[in-house]
Amino acid sequence: MSDYKPFEPLVKRIKEDGKCLPGGILKVDSFINHQIDPTLLQSMSIEFVRRFASVEINKILTIEASGIAPAVMVGFLLNVPVVFAKKKKPSTMADMLVTEVFSFTKNKSYSVCCSKEYLKEGDKVLFIDDFLANGNAAKGIIDLVNQAGATLSGMGFLVEKSFQHGGDFLRAQNFPVESLAIIGSLDDCKITFKD
Ligand code: 5GP
Repeated sequence: MSDYKPFEPLVKRIKEDGKCLPGGILKVDSFINHQIDPTLLQSMSIEFVRRFASVEINKILTIEASGIAPAVMVGFLLNVPVVFAKKKKPSTMADMLVTEVFSFTKNKSYSVCCSKEYLKEGDKVLFIDDFLANGNAAKGIIDLVNQAGATLSGMGFLVEKSFQHGGDFLRAQNFPVESLAIIGSLDDCKITFKD
């Protein structure tokens, strides 16, 4: 499940419309992170469903905000609920699971939480997110899933940046990781894909 197969429609779109920012950031605001292309989103979600067809999934988990759109589309296709972990503790949420995540794009740590009502022992979870970089968000999700006594059936990312090595960490731990496009380098603000 972990051999890299590029999803060509996404690779093509990144080549056409992706922008590179200093500091190893890929900006995909025109089709994923701000304006969303629903047709591309649908095709990427169908691809996730195909790639995770052999595992049992009863829930999609993501982190707000940018993971929500792909997570909802995958949840719709699989007809399972979608839970987004929250970056601020809601005052109305009593019983919850909490973990800390370091954000390299914002250069600070923040708490991520999820109600125990929506992530429970026995859940078989597919985590979906827009980017995999250093893997800190993914590690936070692993912690929440472990705290709940649930199981991670898979982890799907639209874009992985292999030069930040979160993917190496997750694959070394045998998590089933699927990334639709893998960027090998953003050096000199040039987008180079892994082959
Ligand atoms: P990680 O926790 O794996 O280091 O980073 C993952 C999170 O950081 C993603 O959920 C995403 O929101 C954000 N992120 C990391 N790298 C990039 C990037 O190159 N571009 C954008 N737009 N977001 C990124």
